[in-house]
Amino acid sequence: MSNRVAIIGGGIIGMMTAKMLNQQGADVILLEKGLLGKESSWAGGGIISPLYPWRYADEISQLAQYGQQHYQSVCQGLLDETGIDPEWLQSGLLMVSHDELADAKAWASRFSANLAIINDSNSLQEIEEKINPEFQKGMWMPDIAQLRNPRTLKSLKASLEKNNIDIREQTKAIDFIKNKNNQITGVNTNKGIIDCDSVIVTTGAWSGQFAELSRIAVNVKPVLGEMILFKCEPNQLKRIILHKGRYLIPRKDGRILCGSTLELADFDKRTTDTARKELQQVAYEMAPFLKEATIEHHWCGLRPGSPNGIPYIGEHPEIQNLYVNTGHYRYGVVIGLGSIKLLLDHLNGESSFMDINDFRLDRVREPTAEFKLA
Ligand SMILES: Cc1cc2nc3c(=O)[nH]c(=O)nc-3n(C[C@H](O)[C@H](O)[C@H](O)COP(=O)(O)OP(=O)(O)OC[C@H]3O[C@@H](n4cnc5c(N)ncnc54)[C@H](O)[C@@H]3O)c2cc1C
Repeated sequence: MSNRVAIIGGGIIGMMTAKMLNQQGADVILLEKGLLGKESSWAGGGIISPLYPWRYADEISQLAQYGQQHYQSVCQGLLDETGIDPEWLQSGLLMVSHDELADAKAWASRFSANLAIINDSNSLQEIEEKINPEFQKGMWMPDIAQLRNPRTLKSLKASLEKNNIDIREQTKAIDFIKNKNNQITGVNTNKGIIDCDSVIVTTGAWSGQFAELSRIAVNVKPVLGEMILFKCEPNQLKRIILHKGRYLIPRKDGRILCGSTLELADFDKRTTDTARKELQQVAYEMAPFLKEATIEHHWCGLRPGSPNGIPYIGEHPEIQNLYVNTGHYRYGVVIGLGSIKLLLDHLNGESSFMDINDFRLDRVREPTAEFKLA
């Protein structure tokens, strides 16, 4: 890759990419239309696992495994460098049904994942004391961890600043500037032209806005997700609980998140009473003690939805030095780290832990049932 790299989009993907490229000695400039780390990456739950991973293509599990193997040390590194703790926590994940048991077992054996089958209510309560005693069956994944999104992003931003990376907030990329050989020479922004030798697009849900990407079938749609946050004392709930596609995530300070909805709302970022009530109801079903807890916050974010959850990673087939890493959908935290590693290895001409061709921009992605429903 050539000298000056402009990264467009300052979510977790753009910020991590900037950090890693800087470590490799590149001259990086990070462009963000608003403020760093305030969109989907801020809004997410930070579970370092897909939900029901067997429902997705194996590529998702492979990317996820990379994140699962590396996040603890990445978070520790950020804490040591900045003093801001991303709060990596191995809380485990408890699913409270045996639906999809056969698929789950087959997936666990394929990926050597630690998955225990639970057959009675007492055993469920040994894992999570505060779970609704009416649940009788479950699947337990003790290795699953989480991080706390706003803190991770704060820590990442502090790291970028410490390393003097050129950050331009409130700077919206409008289009790409190319020479007669169809090679990138700059980015046109609302603040003028920024010269660079290559561009990496990490604009999340907004990635479809670039004609050069939509033209080659990069199909990223915003899929809105709403979350609510309960204020509780520490250690009331210890495990991530998953039930009917909704989850509870206990943070270190006691707060408990409940998420998340899947809604196609274009770019309309508004929360609704319907979603709040629905999340509240399912939270009470999972952990009845929450009926006594105050709801402190209710928010939403726009996931970068690719039709089958497989992100778009790699080079533009026609424009030289234009690269993309987007469309991580519901799992940009867990699969993001692996996607960045894959792209950077490709840029450095090195072999990687997966074949980047599986994620190429013009690979057709058939929409999954979940995506059609959203
Ligand atoms: C409710 C919810 C729960 C989630 N839970 C989880 C979870 O538990 N685990 C998990 O792994 N994932 C989860 N996710 C998904 C995950 O958060 C996303 O996949 C991930 O944050 C995507 O990162 P990103 O950097 O691509 O996008 P973003 O964080 O949205 O960043 C993209 C950035 O690009 C900027 N941008 C856009 N266009 C331009 C432009 N033209 N010029 C300059 N800047 C631009 C935007 O302002 C934005 O800051 C969740 C998401 C939501 C909404």
